[in-house]
Formats: sequence, C-alpha cells, structure tokens
Amino acid sequence: LLTIEGLRKSYGDLLVLDGIDLTVERGQVLAVVGPSGCGKSTLLRCVNGLEATQGGTIRLGTQTITDPGTSWSRVRQRVGMVFQDYELFSHLTVLDNILLAPRAVQRRRRSEAAAEAEELLRRVGLHDKRDAYPRQLSGGQKQRIAIVRSLILHPELMLFDEVTAALDPEMVREVLDVVAELAADGMTMLIVTHEMAFARAVADQVVLLDAGRVAERAEPEQFFTRPRSERARAFLASLD
Ligand code: ATP
Ligand code: MG
Repeated sequence: LLTIEGLRKSYGDLLVLDGIDLTVERGQVLAVVGPSGCGKSTLLRCVNGLEATQGGTIRLGTQTITDPGTSWSRVRQRVGMVFQDYELFSHLTVLDNILLAPRAVQRRRRSEAAAEAEELLRRVGLHDKRDAYPRQLSGGQKQRIAIVRSLILHPELMLFDEVTAALDPEMVREVLDVVAELAADGMTMLIVTHEMAFARAVADQVVLLDAGRVAERAEPEQFFTRPRSERARAFLASLD
C-alpha cells in the first residue's frame, strides 16, 4: 500500500532523512521507533504531505504522492494522522468536530455521517460524550475522539505519532486499546511510539530509525530479543 524509496528530507542544512526505504503492505502494522530527534515525526509528516521532500518517492497504492501537482486534500482523505496533541475545535461539540471533514471535504449528508459518527463513538466507548465540548473531556477521551475524526474519512492508512505521550499514565491504556483494536480489525498503520511493550504486542514489524536511515526492520520478537544490528542493540540498551 505504501512504498517509500530513497526518501530524503532536510531542514536547511540539517539532513534528517537520508535515504529511507520502507514498504507497508495492506493490513500491516509497523511500529517506528528510534532515539529522540531521529526523524520519526518527520517521516510521518512527509507521508501526509505536511513536509516538502528533497528526494526520493512516496507511493500510496498507484499514486506517487511526491509528484508535483499531487492533490493533498485527496491524500489526506486516504491517510489519517493522529498526533500527540489532539487538536479539537473547542467551540464545537464532539459530534460536530467529527462531522467537520466529512461534511466540508466529502460533502456527505449530515444525517448519514452523524449515524456513522455515533457508531464510531460507540466503538471507542464515548457515545455518551457526543454533545460534550472538548474542555469537558479528559486527555484520553480527546485522543479517542481525534482517532474517530480520522476514521470517519475511511482512511486506507493511519499514522499515529506518539498518541499517548501527552497523557497521564492512567489514560494511556484506553487509547492504546483503541489502536490495538484497529490493528486487529486489519487497519494498515504506521505507529511511532515510545511504548515498547505496546509495539511488541501490536506491531507486525518494528522499524528502527537512526541517523536518517532504517537501521533495522524485524518482527517484534526478533527485534526485542535478538536484534541483528549494533544500532538496535544500542537503542534497546538505552531504554533500560
Ligand atoms: P522525538 O522522538 O523527540 O519526537 P523525532 O524522531 O520525531 O523525535 P523529528 O521531530 O522528526 O524527530 O525531528 C528530526 C530532526 O529534525 C530533529 O533534529 C529536529 O530538531 C529537526 N526538526 C524537526 N522539525 C523541524 C523544523 N520544522 N525545522 C527545523 N528542524 C526541524
Ligand atoms: Mg516526534
């Protein structure tokens, strides 16, 4: 579904991604890990068209999204992204936050989109918060709403960037459970996370980014117990 070849990205003189090759098959869940500043967020942002790239290609199915003239609004309907800092509109209710994009971008009818929104809210355990405003929600609840807001666009690929990093510990579980459930349902996902136990449990493969490159890619069991590369051994040792 996603094919990245030779991707290069720099900020001014700072080369952050130095030839990334990465493929994600439909239904696959990849956990992207690596030291702070290694370019994990930058990689996700490139896939979602939030960053201009300096070389290489990113293909989504048959569409080369790094080509000039790419319709980014189209790409963003195919690729959902949830960040560390949930950005819900504070003056809109939960339901209206969720309906914003399907109404404005996809021109769906309110009644039809609202029915799906309610179904998704039920799935993440927040049906009773439909008419609440963001300030009336906990961090974990807001993050689950942010996930629903992406899902209602029927993305083919979901990108998660440290979705639990800003949460109090007791709220981490409820958000990770939603992500794990999506994985079990067959959603294709790239998950940047510091939660190694979660990566191990949910990912089909773990990808270690280091120095702007893919240093290792392996199944979780192998990655966490018998890493092949020196980089991976050093990274795992740094976690204890
Ligand atoms: P973390 O685990 O701390 O979130 P990360 O792996 O997500 O780190 P990135 O946010 O992708 O790292 O940043 C990679 C490098 O690019 C860092 O050195 C960072 O300082 C730099 N960088 C990120 N965004 C910008 C920007 N908009 N302008 C300039 N430099 C940036
Ligand atoms: Mg980051």
